[in-house]
Amino acid sequence: MQVHPGVAEATIESLIADIYVRHDGMAGRARELIRAASAAGDARHAALGRLVLAELDNRGGRVAEGVRQARDILAAGDDRVVIAHAHAVVAGGLWRAGDNAEAVRHAYQADRMLTDGDPLALRVDHAIILALQVNDQRIGGISHSEFEAAQQLADACGRPALILANLNNWAWCAYSHGDLDSAAALVERMRSHSDRSGEPLNASCADTVARILLETGRPRDATLVIEEAIARAAPTDSDAIPAALMTLADIQRRDGNTGTAMRTLAKCREIAARDRLGDVDALALRMLAGCHAELGDFEAAYREMVDFHEAWTVRRTEQSEVMARVTHAQFAVDEAHRNTELFREMAERDALTGLWNRRRSDARLAAVLAAGAPAAVALLDLDHFKQINDTHTHAVGDLVLCRVAEILQAVPGHAGRHGGEEFFLVLDTGLAAAARTCEALRAAVAGYDWPAVAPGLRVTTSIGLTAVRADDDAHTVVRRADEHLYAAKRAGRNRLVSDR
Ligand code: GH3
Ligand code: MG
Ligand code: MG
Repeated sequence: MQVHPGVAEATIESLIADIYVRHDGMAGRARELIRAASAAGDARHAALGRLVLAELDNRGGRVAEGVRQARDILAAGDDRVVIAHAHAVVAGGLWRAGDNAEAVRHAYQADRMLTDGDPLALRVDHAIILALQVNDQRIGGISHSEFEAAQQLADACGRPALILANLNNWAWCAYSHGDLDSAAALVERMRSHSDRSGEPLNASCADTVARILLETGRPRDATLVIEEAIARAAPTDSDAIPAALMTLADIQRRDGNTGTAMRTLAKCREIAARDRLGDVDALALRMLAGCHAELGDFEAAYREMVDFHEAWTVRRTEQSEVMARVTHAQFAVDEAHRNTELFREMAERDALTGLWNRRRSDARLAAVLAAGAPAAVALLDLDHFKQINDTHTHAVGDLVLCRVAEILQAVPGHAGRHGGEEFFLVLDTGLAAAARTCEALRAAVAGYDWPAVAPGLRVTTSIGLTAVRADDDAHTVVRRADEHLYAAKRAGRNRLVSDR
């Protein structure tokens, strides 16, 4: 089947919006998009389809897998929209694994990389993620501006699922920051939008609405909202239903219906066990302990608390393991990057001494000539080096080259080896300062403890130094330095000759 690009774009936009509502059937739709887009040679939508699968992993408790997939796509991507969305999926996964700091960085990338004209549902999705990341665990008050920006985009996009998703996060963050007035106003917006658009509140939205209704003194309304959402929710919707059940149990308990609350919690634990939602199960156990205590059954309360602590510890260990796997995957990416840098640098280093090689020296000289700032160039040649090899062996000769390289590396500036026993310096100073540096170098080589390297060994160097002039090119400046070097040799070696 051939797929029209417009069809693929519409498909991805509805997948992005639907993921906020319910997950049943989504994996199949994503795979169909990947298949059709691949067949049509449409790499962008094939990659976006794979990112939907990664997001389903994130939301389905398989964070390490989701983040790995998204990072692979991020590393291989050359399409701006794909890279942006990969950042968004990585952000969501890291946030679920508890790494807020990294998550925010990726969320910013995802948001900044999209612009006018890009698929609107993606822009809304990224703006929603950024607003949540910026506000979750934020120290100080809630920052409304990111939510407002996301809401503007969501309204422009017009998809009820996205509008409700942003309002839901916004209300939840306001509630978490203790801003009940804003939270109550946002809940009213959610309810009226749901009524007007016909898009029902899903379990996650219902949970937020009910929490806030409960805190603002309306437990009856809160109960109705939750019971309605739970009756309608798809059984696969991640941890939203058990979370809503916990809220319901809390309402029932505060109302004095401890027995009803305990039955609700039992149902919650059933789902948690089936879907392996360790966090929810642990929290339900803690609330159960409170219920037992209220009924005066302190022994049972104590038992539940012990179970809670055990479950909570297991949960934290599991979460650390997920983080460890996520971090390890990131380490592999960083390592590959570092290796590339390392190889790039190695290609510009002299193998024996580790100094810069000829190629790098040529590039440095060209940069200095282009910059036009004060600079000087020196050529160094070891004296009677052939004799050193002959007298003390080639191996000692190599050692001498390495020790001289160490002395050169201590000088601020560029130090390169031009083959054999010739070295090349680029100093970012005027002639007078460069002459002092070179004279110090000459003295350092001559005064080095060479007898410690080989008995009777003596090493000296001759140096030709010249200042870079405005009308110089690489040839003229090196030729002058070379002439000065030759003059130093003729004048008896172990000396510096520079411009007069
Ligand atoms: P001058 O003072 O005139 O510079 O004399 P010199 O002996 O240093 O100059 P010449 O150019 O005659 O000899 C350079 C010697 O450096 C010859 C070569 O065998 C040796 N050489 C070049 N590269 C290496 C190297 O990598 N290791 C060692 N041990 N010797 C090297
Ligand atoms: Mg030489
Ligand atoms: Mg020499």
